[in-house]
Amino acid sequence: MGGKAFGRQMTERIYFDWNATAPLRREAAAAVEQALALTGNPSSVHAEGRAARRLIEHARGQVAALVAGQPGDVIFTSSGTEANMLALSPAIETADHKRPFDRLFISAIEHSSVRAGGRFPREAVEDIPVDADGCINLEAIEEALVKAARPLVSLMLANNETGVVQPVARAAALVHAAGGLLHVDAVQAAGRIPCDIADLGADLMTLSAHKIGGPQGVGALLRFREDIHFTDPLIRGGGQERGIRSGTENVAGIVGFGAAAAAAQQLMAKEAARTLDLRQKLEAGLCAIAPKTVIFGGSAVRLPNTTLFSLDGMKAETAVIAFDLEGLAVSSGAACSSGRVQPSHVLAAMGVSPALARGAVRVSLGWATTAAEIERFLGAWRKVASALCKESKERPEMAA
Ligand code: PLP
Repeated sequence: MGGKAFGRQMTERIYFDWNATAPLRREAAAAVEQALALTGNPSSVHAEGRAARRLIEHARGQVAALVAGQPGDVIFTSSGTEANMLALSPAIETADHKRPFDRLFISAIEHSSVRAGGRFPREAVEDIPVDADGCINLEAIEEALVKAARPLVSLMLANNETGVVQPVARAAALVHAAGGLLHVDAVQAAGRIPCDIADLGADLMTLSAHKIGGPQGVGALLRFREDIHFTDPLIRGGGQERGIRSGTENVAGIVGFGAAAAAAQQLMAKEAARTLDLRQKLEAGLCAIAPKTVIFGGSAVRLPNTTLFSLDGMKAETAVIAFDLEGLAVSSGAACSSGRVQPSHVLAAMGVSPALARGAVRVSLGWATTAAEIERFLGAWRKVASALCKESKERPEMAA
């Protein structure tokens, strides 16, 4: 089922929540279907088992290629969340360091699966601030690193709410100079912008299949240094994934992940340019209709597909329902916190006032988004913003 089919199936509905999850790519659906038709445990030595193993190893190569890594770098997991949890352990050894990490530094805008701190005690986890555009403060990283004997640093490549792309390569140089390791959560960036490991300099990287058009419930941790040794895997047992992640592999999910990675890689440059053009039209339209619209991270480098915006006096939960009634699926900030009215920690870290943060709506685009869909969104925004004007005592300024 491709993105277009997804849109049609929802009859008149339009999906603008690609950062929460992307529709399953046609290539991924076909690969999953084929894999589900086979029987065979990839650890079995018979022909059926070997066939399942071949599928996994092919997918491993496809996932590695998305970030210009090696197949042997990839450890398949059940999700991006699990990969983050696996990576954030004090007990990771390297050839030159056998003692545990004493501190974990994370940016203040990380996804909740990183903010949970993995297996570090709470007091060993420290936040690195961001600027008003939602970009990590490199000087603060440099200052923080001196506090640790052996630091682990975890930074996202692109923020899931604002789309702001972080200066990961520059952070990597600082972390390595301090004798630390850098883990990069590239869940939102992969397939949307180049994530070549040689350019980023990360030691570990998290990916998730469902953000790039693969199935939900599959992820990967990539380990770019062979000497990185996980002394305390999260899941022990049969020793699958080189003993780092036991459990019979999710063959169909992994195969779908591989197919999605290959398709994403092939289309990335073209899609990035196309979605950026659509997003610019969207943002120009939002601001033309309600000139006081604030685009968060608007002057920073962002993912081409993501817009997070607000208008003083707007309540995101009301706006999301209003858009939903218009047939449009958007999100109020992070998907994981949708349904719960709580201020975004990302916007709080950027110093956004609680009143403005309260109205933040995220529109995220993908390969099936069209210019006509953007027009329909803007038509709905005209209604939402105008209703807001009627309600609001302060009456935000509206353009005709
Ligand atoms: N990291 C980021 C930046 C995310 O946006 C998400 C999901 O929203 C995750 C990690 C978690 O990935 P998964 O849904 O595969 O657990």
